[in-house]
Order: sequence, then structure tokens, then C-alpha cells
Amino acid sequence: MKINNHFNLQPYNTFGIQVYANTFTAINTIEELAETVYELIPQYKQHLILGGGSNILFTKNFDGLVIKNNLKGITIEREDEQHIYVKANAGENWHELVMFCIENNFAGVENLSLIPGCVGAAPMQNIGAYGVELKDVFYCLEAYDIYNKTLVTFNKADCKFGYRESVFKHTHKNKFIITGITLQLNKIPQFKTAYGAIEQELAKMNITELSIKAIANAVMNIRQSKLPNPVQIGNAGSFFKNPIVENAVYHQIKANYPTVPGYKEGENHTKIPAAWLIEQCGFKGYRVNDAGCHHLQPLVLVNYGKATGEEIFALSEKIIDTVYKKFTIFLEREVNIY
Ligand code: FAD
Ligand code: NAP
Repeated sequence: MKINNHFNLQPYNTFGIQVYANTFTAINTIEELAETVYELIPQYKQHLILGGGSNILFTKNFDGLVIKNNLKGITIEREDEQHIYVKANAGENWHELVMFCIENNFAGVENLSLIPGCVGAAPMQNIGAYGVELKDVFYCLEAYDIYNKTLVTFNKADCKFGYRESVFKHTHKNKFIITGITLQLNKIPQFKTAYGAIEQELAKMNITELSIKAIANAVMNIRQSKLPNPVQIGNAGSFFKNPIVENAVYHQIKANYPTVPGYKEGENHTKIPAAWLIEQCGFKGYRVNDAGCHHLQPLVLVNYGKATGEEIFALSEKIIDTVYKKFTIFLEREVNIY
């Protein structure tokens, strides 16, 4: 197993922040994982499991052990009348897994096309887009329990999935290395096109017969048209979660801002797009040195080149303060801060 000291993490985070890990190693097999857990982790005061680094902001050097999860492999486990069960190891690229499903006509993940990062991180925040969340197709996951040194299985209920949430961001944080997940995919697709601009895009593409491939292509087109590509401009996608407020709070805002968008969340709550709140505060296209708020999608904070993690973090603080002063709504960060 290769161990690197004073390791540059810039190519390993999509914000492109130049910070160094005290020590870095990659795990390619379960044996290497066990060796890391038994021998390496106990030597460090902290560790970090890294996938594609697309949901992370480093604000300083990482004084500990960074473990890049490279466990590969996709297998079709079994099928029943309605479903196909596909297992993917944690180091697989999420979008490549989606493409594998689409090529094989396994339905359920098409709306989750083009989300960066690795399979192992998908349960962390129950990734979601265009009206579908991982939990909708999730069957179970396997994870290595770092402290009890055993491989354990979590079913859907164990993961306590919520809106960009799971048990792995809270009580189980840093205690498990997710090694693989099993998806329960549909043989007969249930198309979800009502969300965002999917229907408009399908019409623009002249799609007359709906398919999971057409939906995936529509989602990819929309995403490419409005989201900055991290290869060109450093970013980690949406920096904040969309706040879910009581209906009364939403109606109060609507009285002063009749155009405020809102989506019902159950009977008593409404989700307000954080992007709208941020734009109302004048941050769309805002920039301080190389840290900025994207000019097309203000929910995405960007690194135009040489921004430090501290600068991006300071901008996020400023946005949180300003939104709070104007709307009395507290924006919560979605990106993991280290
Ligand atoms: P990382 O950033 O490497 O890690 C994220 C967290 O998970 C860290 O805390 C890490 O320690 C932990 N972790 C990673 N792997 C493991 C493992 N195997 N075991 C235990 N812990 C682990 N997210 C969405 O939900 N929906 C979107 O539509 C979306 N669009 C995006 C668009 C862009 C342009 C970008 C840059 C990001 C977007 N994201 C989106 C955020 C991000 O892509 C996802 O959250 C993704 O799942 C992160 O995967 P990763 O492998 O890069 O995770
Ligand atoms: P959008 O379509 O412009 O919509 C703005 C917001 O309104 C979204 O955040 C979405 O909430 C909500 N929304 C739109 N239509 C809705 C509906 N029919 N019902 C309920 N809520 C609705 O959003 P966008 O920025 O282009 O993103 C499109 C999708 O990709 C969203 O689902 C978004 O979450 C996802 N995405 C996520 C990230 C990330 O890093 N997490 C980055 C880029 C895109 P939700 O966000 O709750 O879906």
C-alpha cells in the first residue's frame, strides 16, 4: 500500500483548493482497507474518507490521514418480477453507474445523471436532483465499521435518509467507510418529468416517445447549460440547502415579494429555493478576489482560480448573514467543511 506524506489535495477537490494532507493513501481492495483500518488510522488524530472531492471545501491543510476510496466493480446481483438489484462498489463514478443502468434499461436513476463524485458518497447526503433522491432506488449498503472492525449492512431505514441528509453525516460521521451500495432498479420505468425544466427540454429535443435515455439526456443538457463545469471553474455544486420554512413564514415573504417561488413540503411547510434568496440579496455574479457566486446559478459558490478555502468560506458567511438580515431565514451549508 502506498503512503504519501505532505500530499497536495488540489487535484482531489473540485473547488481546486490547494491544501496539503499530512498523509494520503488510496484503498483499492478490501485487504488494503483492512490494513488501513488496523494499522494506519490509529496512528492519526483524524481521518477523512475521500471520493471525488465534489462536496468538500478545505479551509486549511488536513492534519491527519486522507483515505481515497478506489474500490471498483459493478455487478448485477439478482432480479425479481419488477426489479433488478445492482451492486456498485464505492470507488465507482456515480455518473458512469447511471450510464450503465441506462444502457441496460434499468430504470430509476435517470434523473440523477451527471452528478459528480463517487458511488460511496451518494448515501452521505442522499443525493438528489430533479425530483428523485438516492433513497427512491436505494436497497442497502455495506460499510466497514472502523471501530468494531467488521463489515456491516445498512438497509434503507438504518440510513435515516432525509433531504440531503443521512445518519452518516451525523451520529455515524467518520465511523464507517462505505464500501458499496445496492440499488433496486425498475424493469418498468416510472418517468418523472414534472420537475424543473425537464418537460421544456424534452420538447426542445423533439422527443415524442419518452424513455429513460431521453430523460437522462434532457437532464444532462439542462445541467450543462446552467452549472459551471468544475474542470473549468472550481465549485462543489449547491453550497447551501434550500430552506424549508413554515407556511406562515413563506406567506409573510410573499406579501412583500409576490414573485417568491415556493414548493409545498407536506401540509405545513414550504421549500424556498436558496438561489432566489441569495439573488435578492444581490450576490448573483458577486466576486471578491477569486471567490464568487456564479452568475447563472447563485447557489453555486466558485473558485475563479486562486481563491483559498477561507475566502470561499468567508463569502458563504457573508451570504448567510445577509440572507438572515433580509429574510430571517438561516441558510445551512450543504458542502462538507474541513
Ligand atoms: P466527496 O466530496 O469526496 O465526499 C463527501 C463526503 O462524503 C465527505 O464527508 C466524505 O468524507 C464522505 N465520503 C465520501 N466517500 C465515502 C465513503 N466511501 N465512506 C464514507 N464516507 C465517505 N449533489 C446532489 O445531491 N445533487 C446534485 O444534483 C449535485 N450536483 C452537483 C453538481 C456539481 C457541478 C458539483 C460539483 C457537485 C454536485 N453535487 C450534487 C454534490 C456532489 O457531487 C455529491 O454530493 C456527491 O455525492 C459527492 O461525491 P464525492 O465522491 O465527490 O464525495
Ligand atoms: P431549478 O430547476 O432552477 O429549481 C430551483 C429549486 O427549486 C431547486 O433547487 C428545486 O429544489 C426546487 N424545485 C424546482 N422544481 C420543483 C418542483 N417541481 N417541486 C419541488 N421543488 C422544485 O434548480 P437547479 O438549480 O437547476 O437544480 C436542478 C436540480 O438539480 C435540483 O433538484 C437540484 O437540487 C439539483 N442540483 C443539486 C446540486 C447540489 O450540489 N446539491 C447542484 C446542482 C443541481 P431541490 O433542490 O430540493 O430539488
